[in-house]
Amino acid sequence: MPELPDLIYVVGKLREGLLGRHVSAERVKEPVVLRFAVRGNLSLLLGRSLAEIFRKSHFVVFRFEGLDLAVNPMLAGRFRLSAPGDKDEGTLAFALGFGDVELRYLDDKVMGKAYLIATDDWKAVPGMQTGGVDLLSSEFTRERFVSLLRHRRDQVRVFLLDKKALDSLGNAYADEVLFEAGIHPKTFCRSLSHDDAVRLHDAIVKVMTEAVGEVARREEPIDVKVRDFLKVRRKEICPRCGTKIRTAGVRGMDAYFCPRCQPTTRAGFVDWTRTGK
Ligand SMILES: [Zn+2]
Repeated sequence: MPELPDLIYVVGKLREGLLGRHVSAERVKEPVVLRFAVRGNLSLLLGRSLAEIFRKSHFVVFRFEGLDLAVNPMLAGRFRLSAPGDKDEGTLAFALGFGDVELRYLDDKVMGKAYLIATDDWKAVPGMQTGGVDLLSSEFTRERFVSLLRHRRDQVRVFLLDKKALDSLGNAYADEVLFEAGIHPKTFCRSLSHDDAVRLHDAIVKVMTEAVGEVARREEPIDVKVRDFLKVRRKEICPRCGTKIRTAGVRGMDAYFCPRCQPTTRAGFVDWTRTGK
């Protein structure tokens, strides 16, 4: 799943390549990824100009005159800018032509969804969870974070992934920020001290800001996910202390952590296997 740093990079590149252009062609190879909350199909976009491209929750939204195309790439969806004559990828789901450039949406797993809706008709888009505070905005203060955390009864990693609270962290960066803050992924929110919460907030800002910078610096094509700089996610050895990285199941998701840098023996840790939750 693309995460915030990936989405920021992709949206920037798509804006550079496509803003202000008119849709000249459309092709659909995998109709199952498309959903229409308006009467018609992708040909409704023909002749319309692309006025804006932005991120909303974990969707990339293409704003045309009167219509929004909101794409949720899910696990494997990717965008690519190609020349219209380039050979089709086997994973091509649909494409929109903009004169001499073609926007392609590729999806190995065909799990992503693209919703064509009337402008701002977000209620027609399942899974568009909004309301979370943007982690890279000035609204994401220590005070705001601490007050969000204070009301939670779940494990800290579950809270970090809640897009209605925080916009947004996925599995990879949830692991990175917990590592940065030295907090075990199964710690309950209510057992974090004020200092823990502040340290976690600062870790989120640091990790996400650095990741946005690193992804931009690499300048890879937009369909390449840059993740090799992560410290614990899918790594073998802790870069800080050399201990073997472990995994733990948190709500059915694998969390990666260093048992030494993120010990379960912290004062706040509650062993959920013994509490029956
Ligand atoms: Zn370590």
